[in-house]
Amino acid sequence: MTQPSPVRRRVDPRAERAARTILTGQRPRLLPQPVAVAVNGRRRDPRALRAAALVQIQPRPRYDWARDAASAGATAAVGIGVAATPAIPLQVIAEPAYLILAMLDRPGGEVSEHDRQVIAAARLLADAGGGAVVTVSTGSGDALAEAGSDRHVALPDGWADDYVPERRAAAASALMAALSPRHILFPDSPDGGDVARRVAAAAGERLFAGVQSLGPDRATRQSAGGSLEAGHRPTRLMTVAVDAFPPLDGVRHEARPLDLAAPVMAGEELPPRLGGARRLAVDPDALSLSETDFILSAGNGVTDWQSFAELGEALGATRAGSRVVCDAGHLPRERQVGASGMVVSARCYLAFGIAGAPQHLQGITGVRHVIAVNTDLHAEMIKRADLSIVADAQAVMPALIRLIRERRHA
Ligand SMILES: Cc1cc2nc3c(=O)[nH]c(=O)nc-3n(C[C@H](O)[C@H](O)[C@H](O)COP(=O)(O)OP(=O)(O)OC[C@H]3O[C@@H](n4cnc5c(N)ncnc54)[C@H](O)[C@@H]3O)c2cc1C
Repeated sequence: MTQPSPVRRRVDPRAERAARTILTGQRPRLLPQPVAVAVNGRRRDPRALRAAALVQIQPRPRYDWARDAASAGATAAVGIGVAATPAIPLQVIAEPAYLILAMLDRPGGEVSEHDRQVIAAARLLADAGGGAVVTVSTGSGDALAEAGSDRHVALPDGWADDYVPERRAAAASALMAALSPRHILFPDSPDGGDVARRVAAAAGERLFAGVQSLGPDRATRQSAGGSLEAGHRPTRLMTVAVDAFPPLDGVRHEARPLDLAAPVMAGEELPPRLGGARRLAVDPDALSLSETDFILSAGNGVTDWQSFAELGEALGATRAGSRVVCDAGHLPRERQVGASGMVVSARCYLAFGIAGAPQHLQGITGVRHVIAVNTDLHAEMIKRADLSIVADAQAVMPALIRLIRERRHA
């Protein structure tokens, strides 16, 4: 004889979902657990469940763009918002167990992305066992503290102007003798690679060039056109491939100056052997987007192309754009940034009137600083940006040109 089946309640998924919904400002949120509401024994009343679950709290926090606009003086119509950054604790390595030297290029006195990547690679070795990173370059170490430098050896500023790799090689050799570092890393760049090979030849040591992954026990690089990976125990001298290590963010080290004048200056006596070597002024628009450090980019929100060109010239930035503007013929196709255009890794990307479609953002994942100018506060490009100007691009461009000219004149 079959037993009568127990009465099963009907499940109403919509009511259950509604019961778990909380309104925070304008965006509904789900509670982790269903809200227990007894509704006259059997049937669920979705409206009653929703009303019981409705929690009215303050709207989500938002930046006060208006306040920044008020303090922006001449460009008061332009609201500029900067997110407050919390203080980053200072990392002090008082008694390092060993030293890792990072010989930086610092082209034109600026810390390049590749320089930051070399410091990040050096940190991997230093942090594995209580070591410290010693950066070596022209200029002070202030700009290197947030890249991860514990100590800094400043080479004479004049060395930045002349192409005398012998001097840097002599300085590196002198530092090797004076500090006995466990490893010395160089950028695998034309200048850094040149110095590294000179140091290796002088020391009679092997150089492991083009490192792409690094740990205290193993370094690897690609070979055979990228089809093979060669691994090795980290040698003392290594060059670091470009874009192999992400630069550090959110760290603050000491970059304490190391006074080692005597051994480092040993190279000063060496005269330049290439009499005609000098830095050439380049037209930023002649540079490939993959090589330039500063990109001024336009989207569909730009209509004043004269000001866009003038601003590019005033800033010394390479011009680029979204697919829409390249399709419209405002810029040549090779200037298109994005998934089906160029993937760029500039230090600064200044975007005017670009929405920030996923295909466009894919092209700027490696960019360090993004500045967005857009009339729409909720544009994806504004979310990606470190600094945003919520205003009409046609108003901001001439204002910036004026400001640059005034500063130059002053
Ligand atoms: C397969 C595929 C590949 C693609 N590849 C790429 C690619 O490589 N690169 C790429 O860019 N796109 C690519 N796209 C297109 C992409 O999806 C977007 O359509 C495109 O990026 C949008 O360009 P935009 O932001 O300039 O224009 P819009 O989407 O029209 O956005 C214009 C923006 O300007 C703002 N604006 C309007 N007026 C002003 C003003 N006066 N001042 C300031 N701001 C203003 C608006 O608020 C808006 O945010 C691809 C699409 C597909 C399907």
